[in-house]
Amino acid sequence: MSDLIRNIKGTKDILPLDSKLWLETESIIHNFMSLHGYHLIKTPVFEKTELFNRSIGENTDIVNKEMYTWEDRDGTSLTLRPELTASVVRSFIQNQLGNLSPIQRFYYIDSSFRRERPQKGRQRQFTQYGVESIGSHNPEQDVEVILIAFRIYQMLGVNDLAVNINSIGSKESRLNYVVDLKKFLTPFKNKLSDISQSRLESNPLRILDSKSKKDLEIIKDAPLISDYLNEKDQANFEVIQNLLIDLNIPFKINENLVRGLDYYNGMIFEIISDNIGAQSALCGGGRYDRLVEQLGGKSTPAVGFAAGLERLMLILKEQSENLDYSTDIYIISSNEEAISQSIVIADILRNKLGIKVITETLRRSVRSQMREANKINAQFVIIIGQEDTSNNEVIIKNMKDGSQINASIDKIESYFGVDYEYK
Ligand code: AMP
Repeated sequence: MSDLIRNIKGTKDILPLDSKLWLETESIIHNFMSLHGYHLIKTPVFEKTELFNRSIGENTDIVNKEMYTWEDRDGTSLTLRPELTASVVRSFIQNQLGNLSPIQRFYYIDSSFRRERPQKGRQRQFTQYGVESIGSHNPEQDVEVILIAFRIYQMLGVNDLAVNINSIGSKESRLNYVVDLKKFLTPFKNKLSDISQSRLESNPLRILDSKSKKDLEIIKDAPLISDYLNEKDQANFEVIQNLLIDLNIPFKINENLVRGLDYYNGMIFEIISDNIGAQSALCGGGRYDRLVEQLGGKSTPAVGFAAGLERLMLILKEQSENLDYSTDIYIISSNEEAISQSIVIADILRNKLGIKVITETLRRSVRSQMREANKINAQFVIIIGQEDTSNNEVIIKNMKDGSQINASIDKIESYFGVDYEYK
């Protein structure tokens, strides 16, 4: 036998037992986005590497070590997208969508790729859903984005969420802050964790994000970004907080929240859950007013979030033990001729009544077909070709109460058309 080919580390198959929950969740997200006036956008899985270098930033983990990048045959450097914001903004600019209306609301559900160390809730191919609202610089738009992110979880019954928000201000405020932060941290350089030591030069803001105990001890006395915000930043942040209170969305201000990517400014937020292990971030986002311009478009403010679908699934799977996976009808065929008949009957029932019908194709005994019907939780079985029924008759058995009737083959449709309603 030849060697077994396995999937690539950090990727996962979604098997039929889980795919129903995936489909249901995705469909809820699609409906939810539509309710809020957001339109689906789909962009290619790979882009020019430069797009991500220019948007995510050269000093980020993603660009430095996590991207799947290769040289195409013509020498162009290409990359599997590690997130979708850059691609959406590229598409917005390229297709001149800003000309269609002063505000554009997009959402996506698609795969992203990062070469991270795989663990529970962290994969190398994963699915993100998210929104990008491009056009408004006002705080009400920030709130709309947080609201969508939060309410999806709420609607799906995910509790115990923490919404952390912060404002990292305008570029100018942040530059001033970073100078002072560096000044504060430099004397402690040797006491910082290795990764934070290297970030002190490349991306000092990220040190605030550190989980290392050593770092936390030092960071707790660091200057606060809130002291560096200008009046406009402060006023916007206040509007956001007040609106969140009006909407009954619980939140906490976390001054150490900075988010990994370079393109954010102003409000940033994340939603975390303690129920999914170490990788607790469900969703992150914020305002990125300079990105459109940075990628060659007309200066246009924007705000969005990205959420991980696998992490959401980890929670939903625990909650979904009672999901109804039942089949409406299983047609049991006693002989080969009956199997052919069953395929025609099933076709009519599915197309006319829209009900889920499964037929036998393994030519098993009636007894094992009955076992199968029980296993897949069929609500009804139709038995065709039994010796004690006449040629044009079938047995319809209600699997819930065990009752059964003989019915003419021509009457199956009307039987289910009428009785099916109060099953
Ligand atoms: P980010 O773009 O890093 O802000 O990620 C947004 C969300 O995507 C996170 O909050 C996670 O839920 C999810 N996510 C990010 N990286 C991964 C990964 N490697 N595997 C699974 N989910 C991820």
